[in-house]
Amino acid sequence: MTDTIKTDVLIIGAGPCGLFAVFELGLLDMKVHLVDILDKLGGQCAELYPEKPIYDIPAIPMVTGQGLTDALMEQIKPFNPTFHLNEMVETIEKIGDPLFRVTTDAGQVFETKVVVISAGGGSFQPKRPPVPGIEAYEGTSVFYAVRKMEQFRGKDLLIVGGGDSALDWVLNLQPIARRVTLLHRRDDFRAAPHSVDQMRKLVAAGKMNLKLGQVTALEGENGMLSGAMVKGNDNETFKIDCNTMLPFFGLTMKLGPVANWGVKLENNLVPVDTEAFETNVPGIFAIGDINTYPGKLKLILSGFHEGALMAQKASRYVFPDKRVVFQYTTSSSSLQKKLGVN
Ligand code: FAD
Repeated sequence: MTDTIKTDVLIIGAGPCGLFAVFELGLLDMKVHLVDILDKLGGQCAELYPEKPIYDIPAIPMVTGQGLTDALMEQIKPFNPTFHLNEMVETIEKIGDPLFRVTTDAGQVFETKVVVISAGGGSFQPKRPPVPGIEAYEGTSVFYAVRKMEQFRGKDLLIVGGGDSALDWVLNLQPIARRVTLLHRRDDFRAAPHSVDQMRKLVAAGKMNLKLGQVTALEGENGMLSGAMVKGNDNETFKIDCNTMLPFFGLTMKLGPVANWGVKLENNLVPVDTEAFETNVPGIFAIGDINTYPGKLKLILSGFHEGALMAQKASRYVFPDKRVVFQYTTSSSSLQKKLGVN
Protein backbone atom coordinates (compact mmCIF):
# COMPACT_ATOMS: atom_id res chain seq x y z
CA MET A 1 0.00 0.00 0.00
CA THR A 2 1.43 3.38 -1.05
CA ASP A 3 1.24 6.54 1.04
CA THR A 4 -1.81 8.78 0.80
CA ILE A 5 -1.20 11.65 -1.61
CA LYS A 6 -2.54 15.03 -0.50
CA THR A 7 -3.45 17.47 -3.25
CA ASP A 8 -5.59 20.52 -3.96
CA VAL A 9 -7.39 18.97 -6.93
CA LEU A 10 -7.74 15.45 -8.28
CA ILE A 11 -8.84 15.17 -11.90
CA ILE A 12 -10.41 11.88 -12.98
CA GLY A 13 -9.70 11.42 -16.70
CA ALA A 14 -6.80 12.83 -18.72
CA GLY A 15 -8.75 13.53 -21.91
CA PRO A 16 -8.48 16.96 -23.55
CA CYS A 17 -10.85 18.56 -21.03
CA GLY A 18 -9.01 17.15 -18.00
CA LEU A 19 -5.70 18.28 -19.47
CA PHE A 20 -6.84 21.84 -20.19
CA ALA A 21 -8.33 22.07 -16.69
CA VAL A 22 -4.77 21.69 -15.34
CA PHE A 23 -3.92 24.97 -17.09
CA GLU A 24 -6.85 26.91 -15.65
CA LEU A 25 -6.31 25.47 -12.16
CA GLY A 26 -2.57 26.16 -12.41
CA LEU A 27 -3.11 29.83 -13.23
CA LEU A 28 -4.96 30.02 -9.91
CA ASP A 29 -2.12 28.23 -8.04
CA MET A 30 -3.81 24.85 -7.50
CA LYS A 31 -1.73 21.65 -7.48
CA VAL A 32 -3.20 18.86 -9.53
CA HIS A 33 -2.96 15.07 -9.82
CA LEU A 34 -4.69 13.25 -12.71
CA VAL A 35 -5.74 9.60 -12.91
CA ASP A 36 -6.62 7.73 -16.11
CA ILE A 37 -7.45 4.10 -16.88
CA LEU A 38 -5.65 4.32 -20.20
CA ASP A 39 -1.90 3.91 -20.59
CA LYS A 40 -1.73 7.22 -22.43
CA LEU A 41 -2.87 10.83 -22.13
CA GLY A 42 -5.46 12.47 -24.37
CA GLY A 43 -8.62 10.39 -23.80
CA GLN A 44 -10.66 9.79 -26.95
CA CYS A 45 -8.36 12.01 -29.06
CA ALA A 46 -5.33 9.79 -28.39
CA GLU A 47 -7.11 6.46 -28.08
CA LEU A 48 -9.70 6.61 -30.84
CA TYR A 49 -8.48 9.07 -33.46
CA PRO A 50 -4.84 10.09 -32.92
CA GLU A 51 -4.15 10.64 -36.61
CA LYS A 52 -7.49 12.11 -37.64
CA PRO A 53 -7.89 15.84 -38.10
CA ILE A 54 -9.99 18.07 -35.84
CA TYR A 55 -11.14 21.30 -37.47
CA ASP A 56 -13.06 23.08 -34.72
CA ILE A 57 -10.53 23.91 -32.04
CA PRO A 58 -10.69 27.72 -31.83
CA ALA A 59 -7.87 29.42 -33.75
CA ILE A 60 -6.30 26.11 -34.80
CA PRO A 61 -7.58 25.41 -38.33
CA MET A 62 -6.47 21.76 -38.22
CA VAL A 63 -4.87 19.53 -35.62
CA THR A 64 -4.87 15.74 -35.21
CA GLY A 65 -6.11 14.04 -32.05
CA GLN A 66 -2.53 13.31 -31.00
CA GLY A 67 -1.38 16.78 -32.08
CA LEU A 68 -3.97 18.38 -29.81
CA THR A 69 -2.89 16.16 -26.92
CA ASP A 70 0.77 17.07 -27.45
CA ALA A 71 -0.07 20.79 -27.62
CA LEU A 72 -2.09 20.58 -24.40
CA MET A 73 0.81 18.80 -22.70
CA GLU A 74 3.14 21.60 -23.80
CA GLN A 75 0.69 24.23 -22.54
CA ILE A 76 0.33 22.68 -19.06
CA LYS A 77 4.04 21.92 -18.61
CA PRO A 78 4.65 24.98 -16.35
CA PHE A 79 2.21 23.57 -13.81
CA ASN A 80 3.94 20.20 -13.53
CA PRO A 81 0.88 18.01 -12.87
CA THR A 82 1.35 14.41 -11.70
CA PHE A 83 -0.17 11.66 -13.82
CA HIS A 84 -1.28 8.25 -12.59
CA LEU A 85 -1.92 6.14 -15.70
CA ASN A 86 -3.34 2.61 -15.95
CA GLU A 87 -5.36 3.30 -12.83
CA MET A 88 -9.10 3.54 -12.44
CA VAL A 89 -10.70 5.68 -9.77
CA GLU A 90 -13.03 3.37 -7.91
CA THR A 91 -14.33 5.22 -4.87
CA ILE A 92 -14.85 8.78 -3.65
CA GLU A 93 -15.65 9.30 0.00
CA LYS A 94 -16.51 12.66 1.53
CA ILE A 95 -14.39 13.19 4.65
CA GLY A 96 -14.52 16.97 5.12
CA ASP A 97 -16.14 20.15 4.00
CA PRO A 98 -15.04 19.80 1.29
CA LEU A 99 -12.36 17.11 1.51
CA PHE A 100 -12.50 13.80 -0.28
CA ARG A 101 -10.72 10.46 -0.03
CA VAL A 102 -10.35 8.99 -3.50
CA THR A 103 -9.12 5.43 -4.11
CA THR A 104 -7.93 3.76 -7.31
CA ASP A 105 -7.98 0.09 -8.29
CA ALA A 106 -4.20 0.09 -7.79
CA GLY A 107 -4.72 0.92 -4.12
CA GLN A 108 -3.54 4.53 -4.41
CA VAL A 109 -5.34 6.82 -1.97
CA PHE A 110 -5.66 10.60 -2.45
CA GLU A 111 -6.93 13.22 -0.08
CA THR A 112 -8.12 16.15 -2.13
CA LYS A 113 -10.05 19.33 -1.50
CA VAL A 114 -11.65 19.27 -4.94
CA VAL A 115 -12.54 16.47 -7.37
CA VAL A 116 -12.99 17.14 -11.08
CA ILE A 117 -14.73 14.35 -12.97
CA SER A 118 -13.67 14.58 -16.61
CA ALA A 119 -14.32 10.93 -17.34
CA GLY A 120 -15.73 11.42 -20.86
CA GLY A 121 -18.03 8.51 -21.66
CA GLY A 122 -16.63 6.61 -18.71
CA SER A 123 -14.59 3.60 -19.68
CA PHE A 124 -15.54 3.49 -23.32
CA GLN A 125 -15.37 0.18 -25.17
CA PRO A 126 -16.04 -0.61 -28.82
CA LYS A 127 -19.13 -2.68 -29.57
CA ARG A 128 -18.23 -6.16 -30.77
CA PRO A 129 -20.22 -7.36 -33.80
CA PRO A 130 -22.22 -10.55 -33.20
CA VAL A 131 -19.91 -12.81 -35.23
CA PRO A 132 -19.13 -16.23 -33.71
CA GLY A 133 -15.45 -16.72 -32.87
CA ILE A 134 -14.44 -13.08 -33.60
CA GLU A 135 -12.45 -13.00 -30.32
CA ALA A 136 -9.83 -15.34 -31.84
CA TYR A 137 -8.91 -12.65 -34.40
CA GLU A 138 -9.00 -9.58 -32.14
CA GLY A 139 -5.65 -7.82 -31.92
CA THR A 140 -4.17 -9.80 -34.84
CA SER A 141 -6.61 -9.36 -37.75
CA VAL A 142 -9.61 -7.61 -36.23
CA PHE A 143 -9.17 -4.12 -34.79
CA TYR A 144 -11.72 -1.72 -33.30
CA ALA A 145 -9.52 1.39 -33.47
CA VAL A 146 -6.76 2.67 -35.73
CA ARG A 147 -3.76 3.59 -33.60
CA LYS A 148 -1.21 3.75 -36.44
CA MET A 149 -2.36 3.97 -40.04
CA GLU A 150 0.93 2.43 -41.22
CA GLN A 151 -0.14 -0.87 -39.66
CA PHE A 152 -2.68 -1.20 -42.47
CA ARG A 153 -0.41 -0.38 -45.41
CA GLY A 154 -0.73 -3.01 -48.14
CA LYS A 155 -3.56 -4.87 -46.36
CA ASP A 156 -6.78 -6.25 -47.81
CA LEU A 157 -9.11 -4.34 -45.55
CA LEU A 158 -12.73 -5.07 -44.77
CA ILE A 159 -14.26 -2.06 -43.03
CA VAL A 160 -17.69 -2.71 -41.55
CA GLY A 161 -20.18 -0.03 -40.57
CA GLY A 162 -22.09 2.95 -41.91
CA GLY A 163 -21.28 5.80 -39.55
CA ASP A 164 -18.61 8.50 -39.49
CA SER A 165 -15.85 6.28 -38.12
CA ALA A 166 -16.32 3.63 -40.82
CA LEU A 167 -16.48 6.20 -43.64
CA ASP A 168 -13.58 8.29 -42.28
CA TRP A 169 -11.33 5.26 -42.07
CA VAL A 170 -12.36 4.10 -45.54
CA LEU A 171 -11.21 7.47 -46.91
CA ASN A 172 -8.04 7.66 -44.80
CA LEU A 173 -6.89 4.07 -45.37
CA GLN A 174 -7.91 3.64 -49.02
CA PRO A 175 -4.72 5.34 -50.31
CA ILE A 176 -2.41 3.02 -48.35
CA ALA A 177 -4.29 -0.29 -48.22
CA ARG A 178 -3.94 -2.85 -51.04
CA ARG A 179 -7.71 -2.99 -51.32
CA VAL A 180 -10.57 -1.62 -49.21
CA THR A 181 -14.05 -3.12 -49.07
CA LEU A 182 -16.75 -1.29 -47.15
CA LEU A 183 -19.58 -3.48 -45.89
CA HIS A 184 -22.81 -2.05 -44.53
CA ARG A 185 -26.26 -3.45 -43.86
CA ARG A 186 -27.97 -1.12 -46.32
CA ASP A 187 -27.11 1.43 -48.98
CA ASP A 188 -27.80 4.31 -46.63
CA PHE A 189 -25.15 5.86 -44.42
CA ARG A 190 -25.29 7.85 -41.17
CA ALA A 191 -21.96 9.52 -41.94
CA ALA A 192 -21.30 13.09 -43.11
CA PRO A 193 -22.74 13.47 -46.65
CA HIS A 194 -19.37 14.73 -47.96
CA SER A 195 -17.63 11.52 -46.80
CA VAL A 196 -20.36 9.39 -48.36
CA ASP A 197 -19.96 11.29 -51.67
CA GLN A 198 -16.19 10.76 -51.62
CA MET A 199 -16.62 7.05 -50.90
CA ARG A 200 -19.10 6.67 -53.78
CA LYS A 201 -16.67 8.42 -56.13
CA LEU A 202 -13.92 5.92 -55.18
CA VAL A 203 -16.32 3.02 -55.78
CA ALA A 204 -17.33 4.45 -59.17
CA ALA A 205 -13.65 4.83 -60.11
CA GLY A 206 -13.02 1.17 -59.20
CA LYS A 207 -10.65 2.15 -56.39
CA MET A 208 -12.59 0.32 -53.64
CA ASN A 209 -15.57 -2.00 -53.17
CA LEU A 210 -18.90 -1.39 -51.50
CA LYS A 211 -20.92 -4.45 -50.42
CA LEU A 212 -24.26 -4.70 -48.65
CA GLY A 213 -24.94 -7.36 -46.03
CA GLN A 214 -23.78 -8.64 -42.66
CA VAL A 215 -20.78 -10.73 -41.63
CA THR A 216 -21.95 -14.16 -40.43
CA ALA A 217 -18.61 -15.99 -40.04
CA LEU A 218 -14.87 -15.46 -40.30
CA GLU A 219 -12.40 -17.73 -42.05
CA GLY A 220 -8.73 -18.09 -41.14
CA GLU A 221 -6.24 -19.85 -38.93
CA ASN A 222 -4.28 -18.96 -35.79
CA GLY A 223 -5.81 -15.52 -35.58
CA MET A 224 -4.90 -14.71 -39.20
CA LEU A 225 -7.99 -13.81 -41.18
CA SER A 226 -8.39 -14.96 -44.80
CA GLY A 227 -11.98 -13.98 -45.47
CA ALA A 228 -15.40 -13.06 -44.13
CA MET A 229 -18.63 -14.83 -45.02
CA VAL A 230 -21.39 -12.32 -45.63
CA LYS A 231 -25.14 -12.75 -45.90
CA GLY A 232 -26.29 -10.33 -48.57
CA ASN A 233 -29.57 -8.47 -48.50
CA ASP A 234 -30.91 -11.02 -51.03
CA ASN A 235 -30.14 -13.74 -48.43
CA GLU A 236 -27.36 -15.15 -50.63
CA THR A 237 -24.08 -15.83 -48.82
CA PHE A 238 -20.80 -14.70 -50.36
CA LYS A 239 -17.18 -14.42 -49.28
CA ILE A 240 -15.09 -11.26 -49.06
CA ASP A 241 -11.36 -11.99 -49.20
CA CYS A 242 -9.56 -9.92 -46.58
CA ASN A 243 -6.72 -10.25 -44.11
CA THR A 244 -7.82 -7.43 -41.80
CA MET A 245 -11.26 -6.40 -40.57
CA LEU A 246 -12.14 -3.09 -38.91
CA PRO A 247 -15.67 -3.16 -37.48
CA PHE A 248 -17.03 0.26 -36.45
CA PHE A 249 -20.25 -0.46 -34.61
CA GLY A 250 -19.92 2.44 -32.21
CA LEU A 251 -18.85 2.52 -28.61
CA THR A 252 -20.60 1.29 -25.54
CA MET A 253 -20.49 3.88 -22.83
CA LYS A 254 -19.63 1.89 -19.76
CA LEU A 255 -20.12 4.37 -17.01
CA GLY A 256 -18.12 2.20 -14.62
CA PRO A 257 -17.61 3.32 -11.05
CA VAL A 258 -18.92 6.90 -11.64
CA ALA A 259 -22.32 5.52 -10.67
CA ASN A 260 -21.05 4.87 -7.12
CA TRP A 261 -19.49 8.25 -6.41
CA GLY A 262 -22.50 9.79 -4.73
CA VAL A 263 -23.15 12.39 -7.44
CA LYS A 264 -26.53 12.65 -9.09
CA LEU A 265 -26.81 11.01 -12.53
CA GLU A 266 -29.18 11.67 -15.42
CA ASN A 267 -29.10 9.14 -18.29
CA ASN A 268 -25.58 8.10 -17.27
CA LEU A 269 -24.36 11.72 -17.31
CA VAL A 270 -23.60 14.03 -14.42
CA PRO A 271 -25.88 17.07 -14.20
CA VAL A 272 -24.07 20.30 -13.34
CA ASP A 273 -24.84 23.99 -12.98
CA THR A 274 -23.56 26.26 -15.73
CA GLU A 275 -21.92 28.81 -13.44
CA ALA A 276 -19.19 26.51 -12.18
CA PHE A 277 -19.98 23.06 -13.61
CA GLU A 278 -20.35 21.74 -10.09
CA THR A 279 -22.35 18.61 -9.30
CA ASN A 280 -24.93 18.24 -6.55
CA VAL A 281 -21.99 17.54 -4.16
CA PRO A 282 -20.14 20.76 -3.30
CA GLY A 283 -16.47 20.37 -4.23
CA ILE A 284 -17.10 17.73 -6.93
CA PHE A 285 -17.17 19.21 -10.43
CA ALA A 286 -17.84 17.52 -13.80
CA ILE A 287 -16.51 18.86 -17.12
CA GLY A 288 -16.34 17.59 -20.70
CA ASP A 289 -18.39 14.78 -22.22
CA ILE A 290 -19.43 13.32 -18.85
CA ASN A 291 -21.60 16.28 -17.81
CA THR A 292 -25.02 17.44 -18.88
CA TYR A 293 -26.92 20.73 -18.72
CA PRO A 294 -29.44 22.45 -20.97
CA GLY A 295 -27.86 23.07 -24.37
CA LYS A 296 -24.78 20.91 -23.72
CA LEU A 297 -22.66 20.18 -26.81
CA LYS A 298 -20.17 17.34 -26.56
CA LEU A 299 -17.36 19.34 -28.10
CA ILE A 300 -13.82 19.79 -26.88
CA LEU A 301 -14.23 23.57 -26.95
CA SER A 302 -17.20 23.33 -24.55
CA GLY A 303 -15.07 21.32 -22.12
CA PHE A 304 -12.33 23.98 -22.26
CA HIS A 305 -14.82 26.69 -21.28
CA GLU A 306 -16.23 24.50 -18.52
CA GLY A 307 -12.72 23.98 -17.11
CA ALA A 308 -12.10 27.74 -16.90
CA LEU A 309 -15.27 28.41 -14.92
CA MET A 310 -14.79 25.34 -12.74
CA ALA A 311 -11.32 26.57 -11.72
CA GLN A 312 -12.71 29.88 -10.43
CA LYS A 313 -15.08 28.12 -8.02
CA ALA A 314 -12.56 25.39 -7.12
CA SER A 315 -10.14 28.08 -5.98
CA ARG A 316 -12.69 29.24 -3.40
CA TYR A 317 -12.62 25.77 -1.79
CA VAL A 318 -8.85 25.43 -1.96
CA PHE A 319 -8.07 29.01 -0.81
CA PRO A 320 -11.19 30.13 1.11
CA ASP A 321 -9.50 33.35 2.26
CA LYS A 322 -8.06 34.41 -1.08
CA ARG A 323 -9.88 36.77 -3.43
CA VAL A 324 -9.63 35.67 -7.06
CA VAL A 325 -8.71 38.62 -9.26
CA PHE A 326 -9.63 38.24 -12.91
CA GLN A 327 -6.55 38.72 -15.10
CA TYR A 328 -5.49 38.31 -18.73
CA THR A 329 -2.44 36.20 -19.57
CA THR A 330 -1.53 38.88 -22.14
CA SER A 331 -1.06 41.63 -19.61
CA SER A 332 -0.67 40.07 -16.15
CA SER A 333 2.98 39.79 -15.15
CA SER A 334 2.03 37.51 -12.23
CA LEU A 335 0.29 35.03 -14.59
CA GLN A 336 3.24 35.25 -16.98
CA LYS A 337 5.59 34.44 -14.11
CA LYS A 338 3.59 31.29 -13.35
CA LEU A 339 3.83 30.35 -17.02
CA GLY A 340 7.59 30.90 -16.95
CA VAL A 341 7.47 33.48 -19.75
CA ASN A 342 8.34 36.53 -17.70
P1 FAD B 1 -12.45 11.75 -22.99
O1 FAD B 1 -11.67 12.28 -24.11
O2 FAD B 1 -13.48 10.75 -23.19
O3 FAD B 1 -11.48 11.35 -21.82
C1 FAD B 1 -11.99 10.80 -20.63
C2 FAD B 1 -10.90 9.99 -19.96
O4 FAD B 1 -11.37 9.57 -18.68
C3 FAD B 1 -10.55 8.72 -20.72
O5 FAD B 1 -9.18 8.72 -21.04
C4 FAD B 1 -10.94 7.59 -19.75
O6 FAD B 1 -10.02 6.52 -19.81
C5 FAD B 1 -10.86 8.30 -18.40
N1 FAD B 1 -11.69 7.69 -17.36
C6 FAD B 1 -13.02 7.42 -17.40
N2 FAD B 1 -13.42 6.88 -16.23
C7 FAD B 1 -12.33 6.83 -15.43
C8 FAD B 1 -12.09 6.36 -14.11
N3 FAD B 1 -13.07 5.86 -13.34
N4 FAD B 1 -10.82 6.43 -13.61
C9 FAD B 1 -9.80 6.92 -14.38
N5 FAD B 1 -9.98 7.38 -15.62
C10 FAD B 1 -11.22 7.34 -16.15
N6 FAD B 1 -14.85 16.79 -30.64
C11 FAD B 1 -14.64 18.02 -31.18
O7 FAD B 1 -14.78 19.02 -30.49
N7 FAD B 1 -14.25 18.13 -32.51
C12 FAD B 1 -14.07 17.06 -33.31
O8 FAD B 1 -13.74 17.19 -34.50
C13 FAD B 1 -14.25 15.75 -32.76
N8 FAD B 1 -14.05 14.64 -33.50
C14 FAD B 1 -14.23 13.41 -32.93
C15 FAD B 1 -14.01 12.26 -33.70
C16 FAD B 1 -14.20 11.02 -33.16
C17 FAD B 1 -13.94 9.79 -34.01
C18 FAD B 1 -14.62 10.88 -31.80
C19 FAD B 1 -14.82 9.53 -31.17
C20 FAD B 1 -14.85 12.01 -31.02
C21 FAD B 1 -14.67 13.29 -31.59
N9 FAD B 1 -14.88 14.43 -30.83
C22 FAD B 1 -14.66 15.67 -31.38
C23 FAD B 1 -15.36 14.38 -29.44
C24 FAD B 1 -14.21 14.63 -28.47
O9 FAD B 1 -13.17 13.68 -28.67
C25 FAD B 1 -14.74 14.56 -27.05
O10 FAD B 1 -15.70 15.58 -26.89
C26 FAD B 1 -13.62 14.76 -26.05
O11 FAD B 1 -12.65 13.74 -26.15
C27 FAD B 1 -14.17 14.79 -24.64
O12 FAD B 1 -13.10 15.02 -23.79
P2 FAD B 1 -13.15 14.59 -22.26
O13 FAD B 1 -11.84 15.02 -21.70
O14 FAD B 1 -14.41 15.06 -21.66
O15 FAD B 1 -13.29 12.99 -22.28
